[in-house]
Amino acid sequence: MTQKDDIAGALRRFAARHGLGSEQEVRFRAALIDMDGTLYDSMGHHTLAWHRMMRDIGIDTDRDRFYLFEGMTGKATVNLLFREYLHRDATDEEVAEHYHRKTVYFNEMPQVSPMPGAAELLGRLQSAGIACVLVTGSGQRSLIERLERDFPGVFSPGMMITAADVEHGKPHPEPYIKAMERAGVAAHEAVVIENAPLGVRAGAASGAFTIGLTTGPVPVEALSSEGADIVLPSMQALADSVGTLLL
Ligand code: CA
Repeated sequence: MTQKDDIAGALRRFAARHGLGSEQEVRFRAALIDMDGTLYDSMGHHTLAWHRMMRDIGIDTDRDRFYLFEGMTGKATVNLLFREYLHRDATDEEVAEHYHRKTVYFNEMPQVSPMPGAAELLGRLQSAGIACVLVTGSGQRSLIERLERDFPGVFSPGMMITAADVEHGKPHPEPYIKAMERAGVAAHEAVVIENAPLGVRAGAASGAFTIGLTTGPVPVEALSSEGADIVLPSMQALADSVGTLLL
């Protein structure tokens, strides 16, 4: 089966799920796009920073495990680590202290690069009149503030959902549902672009057409089993097939 067949099948199943007559009736009006590991090649740095933060409190973790927590807010991640390794919730002070230290470690590392293919994809979406909304669990200003420089004019003010905008972070669908509200679109008009299992789960639960990208060590099955409509190997692969898939 070619990738084109895969895409057609995925769109057909999506159309059926939303009660549309056929895949010809699918018209995407907004792309809801994750940031780390999707727009930026930043996950290696994030997992290293989390690993280093944990070592500071005397706990040696497997660094690759942090790819499975990806998408959660910093607060939720610190709490999950405390429950797992210290068998209790973190206090608000501990959450603030440890997430701050993780952020400092991240910012000490060399600057991360935009993901290859990201600018091309965003340009094609924009020229097709598809609104772009950023949807991230991150509260780290360093990357969010770079978006306008790296992808000028793409994410207009208000078209960003960050950790500060939601009560429930991914894997809850709230961030993606809020993003649809901001863009003024329904679930059958929205596409989610994600690289993490928990992010894919959030996207699928929101009802949007959910594209998983294997940009890190997480295998295809980890994204398809969370409900990805289609899984592609990279942002560049998505940019290359966006005409068939979304436009
Ligand atoms: Ca991500």
